[in-house]
Amino acid sequence: MPSAALLALAENDGVKQIMLRYGFSKGLVQRFIAGDTLETALVAARRLQENGISIALDELGENISSEREAEAAALSYRHGLHALDAAHLSPPYLSVKLTALGLDLGTDVAAQNLDCLLAHASAIPDAFVCVDMEGSAYTQRTLDIVRSAYAEHGNIGTVLQSCLRRTDEDLKSLLAEGIRVRLVKGAYAEPPDRAYPDKTEVDCAYVRQMHELLRHGTKPAIATHDEVILREAKHQIREEKLSNSNSEFQLLYGIRRDLQESLAAEGYLVRAYLPYGSAWYSYFMRRLAERPANIGFVLRNLLK
Ligand SMILES: Cc1cc2nc3c(=O)[nH]c(=O)nc-3n(C[C@H](O)[C@H](O)[C@H](O)COP(=O)(O)OP(=O)(O)OC[C@H]3O[C@@H](n4cnc5c(N)ncnc54)[C@H](O)[C@@H]3O)c2cc1C
Repeated sequence: MPSAALLALAENDGVKQIMLRYGFSKGLVQRFIAGDTLETALVAARRLQENGISIALDELGENISSEREAEAAALSYRHGLHALDAAHLSPPYLSVKLTALGLDLGTDVAAQNLDCLLAHASAIPDAFVCVDMEGSAYTQRTLDIVRSAYAEHGNIGTVLQSCLRRTDEDLKSLLAEGIRVRLVKGAYAEPPDRAYPDKTEVDCAYVRQMHELLRHGTKPAIATHDEVILREAKHQIREEKLSNSNSEFQLLYGIRRDLQESLAAEGYLVRAYLPYGSAWYSYFMRRLAERPANIGFVLRNLLK
């Protein structure tokens, strides 16, 4: 579970200014983020591909505040898609955030920008767009938009967060509808009436939902670095004789590279979530909040 205190600290203006000033120059950000341009992300993607690891390209950015920014984000996502195709980093797989496409400005704004992106993706064989799941205030709207985009285009899936109390029900519906799901524990601070406050409960929910997803999902994505859970997933795949190529393991760029490579070497489909771009602050702070030990790494580098 992310540390709520660290997520709250991320909102502090002083902390933000220090991080924005020194993040890149002190080499803090590069641990989790491929670079600030699409070109640097493609270099990292090629390196991963050489090691048998596919990617989910994520141009960073969220909670934009004007329609112009939302359209610019949609255009930029489209460039990413075509760049992956042109670089034969295929089939192209994009991760997008609906608040980057204007969800705070209205459901219709985000839905329209997504629709345009998916229409472009449809022209590229097997291109796929996964809609990230943001805080619980967006869950229902995200699922509504994904459902209607899926009915129209098909080349779209989304993320469910095991920390949320509603997820068992959401999973059941998405499985019945055939919509692809990436299962994660959840990276946002959530109130206890919506989310399990205890990490053990989240881990139990994850395992329970993962069993269902692996059994009934369309190309299920098990997105975690939790070795105990990954062992359990591999056990299920073996015992139930599920095909290795039907499901995939997804991990974040820069986290447990050893695990990413060993899973790939064992013959599993592994995908690294590859973020890039200048709007790295919120993503970076979520990575710190997930593992307070990362603060030591930040402080050591800042003091160098
Ligand atoms: C591909 C992918 C996509 C994701 N998309 C979303 C999304 O759309 N919405 C969302 O809410 N969340 C998303 N997440 C984040 C997720 O919700 C968790 O916050 C994150 O994966 C950490 O949880 P964990 O499952 O690895 O388990 P944990 O129990 O948190 O961690 C297990 C182990 O992983 C390692 N680890 C985990 N995090 C870090 C870190 N930051 N730094 C160093 N080591 C670490 C540690 O060794 C730790 O012991 C995504 C995660 C992945 C892998």
